[in-house]
Amino acid sequence: MSTDPGRTRLPAHDSGNPDAPATGRQDFVRQIVRDDRASGRHAAPRTRFPPEPNGYLHIGHSKAICLNFGIAEEFGGTCNLRFDDTNPAREDPEFVQAILDDVRWLGFDWAELRHASDYFDVFYRSAEKLIAQGDAFVCDLSAEEVRAYRGTLTEPGRNSPDRDRSVEENLDLFRRMRAGEFADGARTLRAKIDMASGNINLRDPTLYRIKKVAHQNTGDAWPIYPMYDYAHSLSDAIEGITHSLCTLEFEDHRPLYDWCVDKVDIAHTPALLAPLLARGLPNQAAKPRQIEFSRLNINYTVMSKRKLMTLVGEGLVDGWDDPRMPTLQGIRRRGYTPASLRLLAERVGISKQNSVTDFSILEACLRDDLDAHAPRRMAVLDPLKFVLTNLADDHAETLTFANHPKDESFGKREMPFSRELWIEREDFAEVPPKGWKRLVPGGDVRLRGAGIVRCDEVVKNAAGEVVELRGTLDPESRPGMPGADRKVKGTIHWVDSRHAMEAEFRLYDRLFSIADPDDESEGKTYRDHLNPDSRRSVRGYVEPAAAQAAPEQSFQFERIGYFVADRRDHRADAPVFNRSVTLRDTWMQKAG
Ligand code: ATP
Ligand code: MG
Repeated sequence: MSTDPGRTRLPAHDSGNPDAPATGRQDFVRQIVRDDRASGRHAAPRTRFPPEPNGYLHIGHSKAICLNFGIAEEFGGTCNLRFDDTNPAREDPEFVQAILDDVRWLGFDWAELRHASDYFDVFYRSAEKLIAQGDAFVCDLSAEEVRAYRGTLTEPGRNSPDRDRSVEENLDLFRRMRAGEFADGARTLRAKIDMASGNINLRDPTLYRIKKVAHQNTGDAWPIYPMYDYAHSLSDAIEGITHSLCTLEFEDHRPLYDWCVDKVDIAHTPALLAPLLARGLPNQAAKPRQIEFSRLNINYTVMSKRKLMTLVGEGLVDGWDDPRMPTLQGIRRRGYTPASLRLLAERVGISKQNSVTDFSILEACLRDDLDAHAPRRMAVLDPLKFVLTNLADDHAETLTFANHPKDESFGKREMPFSRELWIEREDFAEVPPKGWKRLVPGGDVRLRGAGIVRCDEVVKNAAGEVVELRGTLDPESRPGMPGADRKVKGTIHWVDSRHAMEAEFRLYDRLFSIADPDDESEGKTYRDHLNPDSRRSVRGYVEPAAAQAAPEQSFQFERIGYFVADRRDHRADAPVFNRSVTLRDTWMQKAG
């Protein structure tokens, strides 16, 4: 673990990793962009965020989004959103819609919305060019045979028996693949590179496969689909991407990326772009450069689409937007803000060092954002009635509270105050532990903003449980009165029981109970490490001004934590609040 989980505030440009060569806005990628501008190589960067629409975006993706869109913003460039939709069997319009929503929610807008599938005819023409150059061939080996011929890390591969087919035969077979003459898997188009290469990605990699599956954009037009490396590199070239930013696992693919870009050379072969130009798209083609950076990993969660898909599919969570999920839809519903995720991206920085960011860094980013930007309200989650016996039964007052202790621009609100209140059950102790500062029988406590009360009587039911407290309000201690500053040990929050709204509070916590749920030792999987206490629902009360919240509005419930009005279920007459994050890091205490 490279980050210190005990810190809740990091300097603005601190990094998640002390070994990182560069941090925050000074990272090595931005340095490359600066150098390219200085040398006149690129006036303005063109970047892209290229998700495959086969799942929902997660917190890790927000790092790539902030990097690509951030660089475009900072250096006067542009960033495209491109769907790398070359695998129709796994892709779905539901995912496309969610990705569009998520990127906009993070506050970014794309220069152009593109799809790899927009370029299928360009890829096809490019493949014919490779065949004509003798750089690609049609191979009849089955998938298993291809694997067997590929060799291993220590042994070179063997050439396919079809490697020396003539250009004419290759062209004929490839056209027939395209015409749908052959069954799925019967043939592939492969690059002719080097079966002895130390880099297995260069051992005559597959460029096209036969797959008679309908595509969400192109329907049944294509029985063959391009492979990722081929489609991705050419898409970057077509869009004139200057800095193709991707995660470190693609480092070994870079030679293939460059091979595809150089051999096809779209930038100098305008004929390949004819289908796009005919559709009115401008020719922006240029040679791109791939640059890799380390992924964002966070402990106490999993961030692979496959695993997230399993959690949803097996009903271990309540869907993709379950507030415990690391999906952007999930953490958004949990109450995470776009600003908190941008802050996270800035604090973990960009480097080539793999590391795991502590979950508490994520939480600290949210606290810092909400501390500054969330209005304060009062809520009681585990209510205990407190009756002020020295107020008249029909006593009714309105007290005024600042919405934010440090920022007057948040304005003020009014809170009713009468004879009967709800206070938090845990703010009362019949037999107080050592150091207790809150309410005890016969003791005093300050009611936030209202005055000092004493507990005179503890009412219990037949089972001996405390069901009500009765006490008196010291009139001299009211705000503005001479005794208002009288010292008492504790201050507690409250709501007026006659006006408060009953509310549901969903208390979320980390989805996994161990730091590395991906640890598969002892035959366990991440499924075995789900935190049984990751969700609890309680009913309590909120002051009237909180019930009026708009869906997705965040508050600090004083002394309790940061909450958000649930974007699906909250209604003013049936409030539902999700706990986004506690006021302090409770996991450190558990760990310590
Ligand atoms: P997963 O591995 O979770 O299934 P993926 O990498 O297959 O995700 P893509 O849709 O291909 O998902 O990702 C789109 C972009 O987001 C890629 O450029 C990828 O490198 C980047 N990305 C994905 N996960 C992370 C992460 N954890 N941190 C930073 N960038 C990421
Ligand atoms: Mg991927």
